[in-house]
Amino acid sequence: MATVVGLLKETWENERRVALVPLEVKKLVKKGFQVLVEKGAGAGAYISDEEYSEAGATLTDRKDVLSRADIVVKVQPPDDTDISALREGSVFVSLMFWWKNKDRIKALAGRKATVIALERVPRTTKAQFVDVLSSQATIAGYKVALLAADLAPRLFPMMTTAAGTIKPARVLVIGVGVAGLQALATAKRLGARIYAYDIRPAAKKDAESVGAKFLESPVWAEGEGGYARELTEEEKKIQREFLAQNIGDSDVVITTAAVPGRPAPKIIFKDMVERMKPGSVIVDLGAENGGNCELTKAGETVVHNGVIIHGPVNVPSMMPIPASQMFSRNVYNLIEMLVDKEGNLQINPEDPIVGPMLAVLNGEIKVEV
Ligand code: NAD
Repeated sequence: MATVVGLLKETWENERRVALVPLEVKKLVKKGFQVLVEKGAGAGAYISDEEYSEAGATLTDRKDVLSRADIVVKVQPPDDTDISALREGSVFVSLMFWWKNKDRIKALAGRKATVIALERVPRTTKAQFVDVLSSQATIAGYKVALLAADLAPRLFPMMTTAAGTIKPARVLVIGVGVAGLQALATAKRLGARIYAYDIRPAAKKDAESVGAKFLESPVWAEGEGGYARELTEEEKKIQREFLAQNIGDSDVVITTAAVPGRPAPKIIFKDMVERMKPGSVIVDLGAENGGNCELTKAGETVVHNGVIIHGPVNVPSMMPIPASQMFSRNVYNLIEMLVDKEGNLQINPEDPIVGPMLAVLNGEIKVEV
């Protein structure tokens, strides 16, 4: 019997992405999977039910998807109703943010489910084809630069006209991971003068490769697996003094700094904001996770001393079309890893990519809850 893949519609507020788009549904059907799609699943990403039907899916209701699918896919974690309707022993694939959803992990284990938490993907070159953190950060980095350009009461590019010459905006990106690098490249394309700051030595080369001037840090703090580590109190003090001047000189500051599993590091404090010119802009991609700026309010735009501070949430969902396309490709690649050559479910907990992503395996919890 064909393995059944079920696609759920997102129910979380402001979530417009969908975990599989018709292109990958078609590929799954061609490979022998049966695909069930909840009616309206693609609406937020401008994909109609007809497109899914044409790709070979069966359109149905949520309960039916949850009760019949062997592998259920979704962008955001399941809610409690989903978990109670989930067929025992099925596989659930989504972002789980397991450290915030421990009760749901336990409830899923109670359903004897296997849970693949997409945020647990190893950040290695070999795992990139299933890495939704990277694909969605790429989208977020692009969009955050556009949000900054839109909020700024000044131009990003230099303009030389009969009415005089306008200087380009000075844009500083703090945190040059996947999102920060894309934000730098986007601000550069818009004509801004770009500056970058990070605490990982590797970020310098990355930032320079897109034309940014790197603010050489007196603090370097590379941790495990190529990620940054949390700074010590002494290092935070040095960083604060070093950045105060550079932030004060910037027209736009975009922050994307993150340390895995920790709240967003606080990098911009009230006194630093007060050194910025009125009309300057801070866009804080860390808003959802507590913010890189002390004054950020998630989901809001606040003005402090004339400085506009914006804390966008779920930025990839603001670009649901490409974000869904990339998410879908990652999910398709992952599904291929969950079955054997005949297309039957076969999860290998020893696999270096799938293994670490397992939050629950056949009802056994694999993360700290
Ligand atoms: P992230 O979202 O964890 O963090 C964003 C950036 O914030 C990082 O560059 C980090 O160094 C920086 N940061 C953290 N604390 C800071 C502080 N106090 N001050 C300034 N900057 C701070 O990062 P990410 O985008 O997930 O990427 C992390 C690394 O993993 C990058 O080197 C990325 O290229 C790498 N990566 C590699 C692969 C691969 O396939 N090889 C895949 C994904 C990511």
